[in-house]
Amino acid sequence: MKKVWLDAGHGGKDPGATGHGLQEKDIALALSLAIKDKLENEYEGVQVILSRSADVFLELKERTNKANAAGADILVSIHCNAGGGAGGFESFRHTSASIAAAELQHALHTEIMSALKPYGVNDRGQKSANLHMCRESRMPAVLTENLFIDVKNDADRLMKADIIKAIVNGHAAGIAKYLGLQKKSVPAPNQNAIVKVIVNGKLIENVKQIDQVTYVPLRALCEALGAKLSWDNDAKMATVSGVSVSSDR
Ligand SMILES: [Zn+2]
Repeated sequence: MKKVWLDAGHGGKDPGATGHGLQEKDIALALSLAIKDKLENEYEGVQVILSRSADVFLELKERTNKANAAGADILVSIHCNAGGGAGGFESFRHTSASIAAAELQHALHTEIMSALKPYGVNDRGQKSANLHMCRESRMPAVLTENLFIDVKNDADRLMKADIIKAIVNGHAAGIAKYLGLQKKSVPAPNQNAIVKVIVNGKLIENVKQIDQVTYVPLRALCEALGAKLSWDNDAKMATVSGVSVSSDR
């Protein structure tokens, strides 16, 4: 079982970046809850633990202490950016990150950007910085900055469900790729298998099999059996008679 630690930035008294009616803490929380759902519902052998699953304040130290104590395999800290300019997406590893952390960043960054490209989001690149969440985590840790709250075009994007979904899908795909998670097998839809039914040497036409049950047109079946079929159209009832039943009990 792989343990993923998802850290929704900010919370409670700390809203993070704000602008255009949005608060970073709310978006970070919504993203982490949805990424957890997607990973656990769609992939085998993964447990996602959240720094917070509600609008509460946590010190940075509490977040990394808990992730370290839980023995998480990776940590992803989810934020939104601010600072004006053209906006966009960027990701951070620590300035002296391990090769593993750089690989996690690369997997996340490329999957998230490929999900966001159709929406014209700027790629601000894979960066490194001396951030607490990346420095104090004992496991490979990456921080994602998911668009700029204070840039109008990005704020508009963050209000759209399909863009939020793209960010969620990108995170899940990147994490799954890095950890080598397998997708859960989806049961095949009710397949109408092609089956043949032969009665007294006669091939019956238009036979269907649905959910392992074989359906045979009744009139054709009766003809092949030499049975009498009477149909009461008012009662919508068919009566079959004249079939000899052997009593070999
Ligand atoms: Zn932040």
